[in-house]
Amino acid sequence: MVAHAHFDQLRFTKEGWSHMQVCIVGAGVVGLTGAYFLAREGHDVTVLESGDDVAQGASHANGAQLSYSYVAPLADPSVLPHLPAWLLSSDSALRYVPRPDMKQWRWCMAFLRACRTATSNRTALELLQLGALSRAALHELVGQEKIEFDHVQNGKLVVYRDAHEFELARRKVDLLAEGGASQSALDRRGCIEIEPSLDFAPTSIVGGIHTPSEEAGDCLRFCNALANVLRDRYHVRIMTGTRVLGWVRQGRQIVAARIEQGDIRADAFVLSAGTASVDLAEGLGLRLPIYPLTGYSLTAAAIPDRSPGINVTDLHRKVVYARLGEQLRIAGMVEITGADESQREARLATLTRHVKEIFPFAADYANAETWCGHRPATPDSKPLVGATKFSNFWLNTGHGALGFTLACGTAKLLAEVLHGRQTSVDASVYSLNRLS
Ligand SMILES: Cc1cc2nc3c(=O)[nH]c(=O)nc-3n(C[C@H](O)[C@H](O)[C@H](O)COP(=O)(O)OP(=O)(O)OC[C@H]3O[C@@H](n4cnc5c(N)ncnc54)[C@H](O)[C@@H]3O)c2cc1C
Repeated sequence: MVAHAHFDQLRFTKEGWSHMQVCIVGAGVVGLTGAYFLAREGHDVTVLESGDDVAQGASHANGAQLSYSYVAPLADPSVLPHLPAWLLSSDSALRYVPRPDMKQWRWCMAFLRACRTATSNRTALELLQLGALSRAALHELVGQEKIEFDHVQNGKLVVYRDAHEFELARRKVDLLAEGGASQSALDRRGCIEIEPSLDFAPTSIVGGIHTPSEEAGDCLRFCNALANVLRDRYHVRIMTGTRVLGWVRQGRQIVAARIEQGDIRADAFVLSAGTASVDLAEGLGLRLPIYPLTGYSLTAAAIPDRSPGINVTDLHRKVVYARLGEQLRIAGMVEITGADESQREARLATLTRHVKEIFPFAADYANAETWCGHRPATPDSKPLVGATKFSNFWLNTGHGALGFTLACGTAKLLAEVLHGRQTSVDASVYSLNRLS
């Protein structure tokens, strides 16, 4: 049996619990950043990870965008007219395949409810605040620990092919400006001035929204570097190859996480297991509204002068582009099909076709590395951060399409709620209760 000594100097002060033994489940970008902000406060942190290494789940080869201002939720009234195409077209970037699965249906109903204009606008403003907190927290972490992950602040250009969609986006610029975002709308010529490689696009672009402050970086490199810092500087134990099977509980308290070799005891537990959080929480009678939204990425050698230097989103195809050193990372597709990878080759071929519509010569596509991942998505696109009905069991999961972007902000928020401190942003909007 693997049993960590229970920390014997656990104290409850007016600041809340101090110097606890904390067990985090999941070593993706969310679990690792959570470990960092807790370990820095002096807690004794253990991270349990079922994979052979850190960041083998959704954090592995994602779109690399640190998209602090472009945080609009997927659930928006503008998606409703597209629903028939999602159901009927195999070429669509967004695809829905109904399954005989209550979890999928419940998620879809909640998603449709979140598509109301008022809800979507409110969520965008809330995520904008969380984005600002995340940017500050990431900069603090990077400044303090000096970690390398191809981090650049080179701005983002979201390009539109459809005049009506572009007009709707222009209006959203005004809304987000109220929340502090600095963005500008550009016509086609303006887009090409900012990103000359768009001049090779065979498809016509009507305009774009430019956000100069946006950033990008390699999430896998970030996780690897952060894991080293956690081990070396903060004495965090990262136990890879360690799958959590369930929990040992006593009333409203969790005593230990069950693994194959025995129990891991701790004072507090944080669930950050991506899409697997659902089953792990279900074992405690907690229903998490998280569903896997499958996506794909390509990583290919960038062709100089033909490849975008700025981060680009092709909104029509929902594809993002980021330069990571000499490589171009391309990510896209949103599938509500369960964690099903059977269409992988066909979908990657579709993604490559979509990419060539806008950047035909940007990278060595023939030799691209391919990847498939599952975004742990809530219906309203907001992560789940905070307490549960168990006094020492906390959530930090459900970051959907923005997990790399929001990880440092939610890690800070988690540390604040766990200590009972005043929070930097309204924590209630990230609680599990909001969706019940
Ligand atoms: C195609 C695609 C493109 C994306 N692009 C972007 C982007 O550009 N910008 C952005 O901000 N976000 C992006 N995302 C989203 C982002 O990647 C995710 O939100 C983020 O990686 C989620 O991190 P996580 O730590 O919660 O989950 P994960 O990275 O999946 O980590 C969860 C970990 O828990 C472990 N685990 C699971 N079960 C157990 C268990 N029982 N015991 C122990 N460990 C367990 C898993 O092995 C895994 O390592 C993208 C996602 C995809 C799929």
